[in-house]
Amino acid sequence: MAENKKKYDIEVVQEGFANGVAPGFPLSDKEKEKMINKAEKAYGKFLDALGCDWRNDPNSNDTPRRVAKAYVHDLWAGRYTAMTPITSFPSDGYDGIVIERNIPLTSMCSHHHQTIGGVVHIGYIAGEGGKVIGLSKLNRIVELFGRRGAIQEQLTSAIHNAVSQITEGNKGVIVTIVGTHNCVSCRGVKHQGAAMVTTKASGVFRENNNLARKEFFDSLKINNGGHNI
Ligand SMILES: [Zn+2]
Repeated sequence: MAENKKKYDIEVVQEGFANGVAPGFPLSDKEKEKMINKAEKAYGKFLDALGCDWRNDPNSNDTPRRVAKAYVHDLWAGRYTAMTPITSFPSDGYDGIVIERNIPLTSMCSHHHQTIGGVVHIGYIAGEGGKVIGLSKLNRIVELFGRRGAIQEQLTSAIHNAVSQITEGNKGVIVTIVGTHNCVSCRGVKHQGAAMVTTKASGVFRENNNLARKEFFDSLKINNGGHNI
């Protein structure tokens, strides 16, 4: 287990917290099954408290199990399941910006347990003799941190820091998230369509009027799939 702890440094954030990993991370299939069984019972009680006769309702009599499974396997999967190790490669003299935009994001707000949808845009510049990451690995990093409880500001930082750590020696990393929060559209103020935009930048991307920073934001305007920024 001590070896695991070291290996999974990048994933941890804060053990036990909604945006961190579950104690004992990563969980085996058996441990996940045990967790689902416990959560199923607890969710049944939650529905009892809300006056829902779920046991006799044909549409809801399996809902506590469905909800528990959705949390463990999908909505909070990043708290229980480790990412496969991410390999980085020599940049072979490429010194330009690498951008992946419109990475789909599904997450859940830690405050209200309502889903967050949106996109993540990531840019970085490898250092001299530095490392680049396989493109799909950026998607996997987004999945790992998105599939937990989240506060968008912190999620932006977590993704940024993971990319920065993996591209060791980089000249800068920038991460922008455009998120739509169901806790804003479905409850409270109930405003549809409001989007939250957060950006975390380091290295050259922090300099005002920096060309790489401009190139990153300009690229987001091209065929942006309707996700305006
Ligand atoms: Zn919320």
